[in-house]
Amino acid sequence: MIMPNMHYADLKDSYLFFNIAQKTKAYLETHPGTHLYRMGIGDVSLPLCDAVIRALHEAVNDQADKALFHGYMPECGAPFLRQAIAEHYRKRGVSLSDDEVFVSSGASDELGDILDLFDRSSSALIMEPAYPAYVDANVIAGRKIVHLPAGAENHFLPEPSGDFKADIIYVCSPNNPTGAVFSREQLQRWVDFANDNGSVILFDAAYEAFIVDDSLPHSIFELPGAETCAIEICSLSKTAGFTGTRLGYTVIPKTLVRRGMCFNDMWVRNRTTKTNGVSYIIQKGGAAVFTDEGQKQIRENIAVYKNNAKTLMSVLDKLGIWYCGGKNAPYIWMKCPDGMGSWEFFDLLLNEIQVVGTPGEGFGACGEGYFRFSTFGDPEDTEKAAELLYELLRRGKV
Ligand code: PLP
Repeated sequence: MIMPNMHYADLKDSYLFFNIAQKTKAYLETHPGTHLYRMGIGDVSLPLCDAVIRALHEAVNDQADKALFHGYMPECGAPFLRQAIAEHYRKRGVSLSDDEVFVSSGASDELGDILDLFDRSSSALIMEPAYPAYVDANVIAGRKIVHLPAGAENHFLPEPSGDFKADIIYVCSPNNPTGAVFSREQLQRWVDFANDNGSVILFDAAYEAFIVDDSLPHSIFELPGAETCAIEICSLSKTAGFTGTRLGYTVIPKTLVRRGMCFNDMWVRNRTTKTNGVSYIIQKGGAAVFTDEGQKQIRENIAVYKNNAKTLMSVLDKLGIWYCGGKNAPYIWMKCPDGMGSWEFFDLLLNEIQVVGTPGEGFGACGEGYFRFSTFGDPEDTEKAAELLYELLRRGKV
């Protein structure tokens, strides 16, 4: 009889967003017609910008024209988009060749697929709390996982140490769920650690566009030595509202080599085997993001989310509640008041002020006692939710 991948049986039930959905559904059943302030899920609320929409329309028209029509696209990405992305890096002082950029359908797909590059015997270090896909993708592959818990004592930015080793190291900065961002010096220590140990860093830069502090790195390739130890996985989902349109990119330097194997060459081989490229229309829309007009327009949308973050942070500041994130990231990670558990705090907010956030415990055991607010919601809702949160916690109802 066929042997299924038995590692699927090792996956923990992904109950986080399911539980949230069940609890909010139950609340609405007993309180029909109530408006909920949804600040839980990390999905955007603003539409694609005009430059992208125009490019998408034009690309659809191309597909109706025999002379301009595109069939299969190059597996690693359309040259016009690879070039636009590499140019975007070059403008920021990171020198890349176009063929070190691979176009993807989004970071989630890539975070799963990229593990094809590593032997199953390689271990994975995951800093927690973490984006849940890191753990699950490695459990499915049967890899040993080294869990590295973070906490308020290190501002949720753990440091490398001689106490542990791993082959694959996940670094997510700005972080989901904590919003914490590694400084240049801190990230350099991870780069040095990876080079010293022959490890590879998978740098998840899905939220780099939210960095406003000039001293913080947007790309791991801003740091010396990263070109021999890192792969950077990026997404236009939050940067440019592509959550439903689907587009991302991955940077694999040609200098990333282990045991004589060049990861860039391996990924070309992987892509030419496993995909037929991303749709021409979507890649045209993506290229518009990297034009001056596109950059200006996506910044306007990001500014709206930044304003949401400001609104929430000012309430937490007034209340004297510990939090991180918000300034350089679209998530705010707060300590639940009065030692409450994260699900307990979830219930309180839902029942008392109809605000829906995300309990920190869902991102790993060390997230217990913390709570995540997403700033991707509607500004009016965020404003109102912040007011209600302030009144609730100020009254000391907890
Ligand atoms: N990485 C992180 C840290 C995320 O939070 C997300 C989505 O929320 C992703 C990757 C996936 O992004 P995409 O929409 O490009 O698949």
